[in-house]
Amino acid sequence: MMNSSVSKLRFFTIQILNWGSENLRSFPWRNNPNAYKALISEFFLQRTKANQIIESYNKFIQTFPDINSLLLYKNDFTYFFKKLGLMKRATYMKNAINSIRNNEKSFKDFQIDDFLKLSGIGKYSAHAIICFGRNIKLPLVDSNIIRIFNRFFSLSDDDKNHKYDPIFWNLAERLLPEKSFKNYNYSLIDFGAIICKPLNPHCSICRLKEKCDNFLKDTNK
Ligand code: SF4
Repeated sequence: MMNSSVSKLRFFTIQILNWGSENLRSFPWRNNPNAYKALISEFFLQRTKANQIIESYNKFIQTFPDINSLLLYKNDFTYFFKKLGLMKRATYMKNAINSIRNNEKSFKDFQIDDFLKLSGIGKYSAHAIICFGRNIKLPLVDSNIIRIFNRFFSLSDDDKNHKYDPIFWNLAERLLPEKSFKNYNYSLIDFGAIICKPLNPHCSICRLKEKCDNFLKDTNK
């Protein structure tokens, strides 16, 4: 990345935005998003593909349409996760909601540090909740985004254990456009799910290929 020119960074951002303008996926948590919807979707999305959670997420939001309805409900709501499995995230969410309920601060005033104190919420989720839910410019880095950065910019030989590596967070910040940051972040997530997939990425139809280190390395072999 250190050797990446400004034009290469700019190329990446513009192409991701262009791709997103034609290919963004539509999900219920992306419709009129707010911090509550973004928080709930982050728990449902943990280690699960987005299209697998739609039904359970919709049922949850129909039952608890806003944070107050959930905070007032003192019974167990973890059964909403049963169909999806990975019940650990349901426990994380239960603990997080208890913390919000017992916090002196109102949920609408929660900042990054407040979200980071909630069980099951890491830096990626805290940033996603505030960026998508409150329209504030914040970068995202998760294993899928690391994979795209690694391939395009040749940062590291492996995609693992970099979730808190400042190199990736600094790069993500530099790539973030000033205005369309929300669409850019949605686009990057979808690009990783549809084009630059973990296995068999669609390099031949990828609009980033002319400057992608991974693609150029393979074609120059
Ligand atoms: S050319 Fe291939 S490896 Fe490079 S960004 Fe596109 S899909 Fe990913």
